[in-house]
Amino acid sequence: MAELDRTGGAPAVPADWTYAPAPESRDIVQLRDRYGLFVGGKWIEASETYETISPASEEPLAVIGQATATDVDHAVAAARTAFADGWSSLPGSERAKYLFRVARILQERAREFAVLESLNGGKPIKESRDVDLPLAAAHFFYYAGWADKLEYAFPNRRPRPVGVAGQIIPWNFPLLMLAWKIAPALACGNTVVLKPAETTPLTALLFCDVLRQAELPPGVVNIVTGDGRTGAAIVDHEGVDKIAFTGSTEVGKAIQRQLAGSGKKLTLELGGKAANIVFDDCALDQAVEGIVNGIYFNQGHVCCAGSRLFAQESIYEPLVEKLKRRLETLRVGDPLDKNTDVGAINSAMQLDKIRELVQSGRDEGAEIYQPPCRLPEKGYWFAPTVFTNVAQSYRIAQEEIFGPVLSVLTFRTPEEALEKANNTPYGLSAGVWTEKGSRILWMAQRLRAGVVWANTYNRFDPTSPFGGYKESGFGREGGLHGLEPYLRFDE
Ligand code: NDP
Repeated sequence: MAELDRTGGAPAVPADWTYAPAPESRDIVQLRDRYGLFVGGKWIEASETYETISPASEEPLAVIGQATATDVDHAVAAARTAFADGWSSLPGSERAKYLFRVARILQERAREFAVLESLNGGKPIKESRDVDLPLAAAHFFYYAGWADKLEYAFPNRRPRPVGVAGQIIPWNFPLLMLAWKIAPALACGNTVVLKPAETTPLTALLFCDVLRQAELPPGVVNIVTGDGRTGAAIVDHEGVDKIAFTGSTEVGKAIQRQLAGSGKKLTLELGGKAANIVFDDCALDQAVEGIVNGIYFNQGHVCCAGSRLFAQESIYEPLVEKLKRRLETLRVGDPLDKNTDVGAINSAMQLDKIRELVQSGRDEGAEIYQPPCRLPEKGYWFAPTVFTNVAQSYRIAQEEIFGPVLSVLTFRTPEEALEKANNTPYGLSAGVWTEKGSRILWMAQRLRAGVVWANTYNRFDPTSPFGGYKESGFGREGGLHGLEPYLRFDE
């Protein structure tokens, strides 16, 4: 029992109170030693392989196939056959049944998927359990509902499936991004070749077992693992009719160049450098929670992370003080511990990138704050970080860090906040904190961002479209809008 601090007549509280470890058991996950590629409903051996690890411990987890251009060719052929052999002409109500089944199985196996997601990706189990899995299932439920209503969604436009969709996803929300991509594609009658990120293939591979349970016809969904070369082979393949990509702006631009003139449909969901704008009339404690959720959720590996905090000058000091105090309470460590708030950085490469940008912040003259916290010796870790005294021109205020690093800037008037917030090549998301509804509307109309959250942050719902402006990409995922990229219209 910790010693009690009874000073000053305040209620007795333990002086050195800490959480007891609360690890989630790994036993529910049955890992195979090696995984092949899931093509045409079967597992095929890959000629090349690599190892996937746990970023929290660097422990090898399984051997994964590195799909070559030939493997991608087989996957596209399987998807084409499944498209022509009945999937595309199946009544929407029948397609919906499969999607409902997938959604229900994901719910039933949620714990298994959550543990595996945290193990392979490094995110806290409470996030994979309470955010990734429920949202992934919700996406399948939501798009199952649209499958037989496409004619109503797009009246007089004769919606038809596009064909084979090539889908390339990143490592920050592996299963959720899979759901965002596969659910609307299937609901619209397309077939799919999907590549998960090199570092986080395991939940996509476990998802193949969900497809088996749901008795989805072979070839409707094909999963090919590998690095960027596999992604490039999918983009390049002549048999692919549509590319959906989520990842870095750099690769997104390369894909756009590669596809120019090809006639393939394309949606890009790329990086961001979101402004989280806090006015002096807001509920300050609530805003602090929103700021913390905005940037430290999933170690800041979030394209819409609120990585630039704009504080109105009149509340700058109390806000930063409260924020620093809140940071001291964040628990960094074992992703499988149910008390963990900030897990492991996804890869050694990402850790290097974060370190490099943080160093640039120091060199350019910003002031750094990191709460005292003991980081595990093995694995990839970075302490939650706040930079103050940041100028707009600093790299930490301009570039996507994709880590638990917040840059704090200030403003005096709404006009100034707006101008500074929009001073970025990106345009994915933003947050506004104020008690005035009219100010929320005024800001939301003028912020060049696909999503604007008001008095909250990082809220997702399958019914709500998500996507960017400018270098954050184009096209929308989620909602009615998320169907359109997977349809052609014979008007
Ligand atoms: P990438 O854009 O490289 O990765 C996204 C996906 O694209 C992965 O599946 C990747 O494979 C694949 N890929 C890589 N190169 C190609 C290519 N030439 N053609 C087709 N597909 C390709 O992002 P990184 O993982 O390298 O991360 C780099 C930076 O990008 C991060 O530091 C972060 O700033 C940003 N990022 C932004 C994301 C967002 O959602 N906005 C998501 C992920 C990263 P592989 O995994 O093998 O590289």
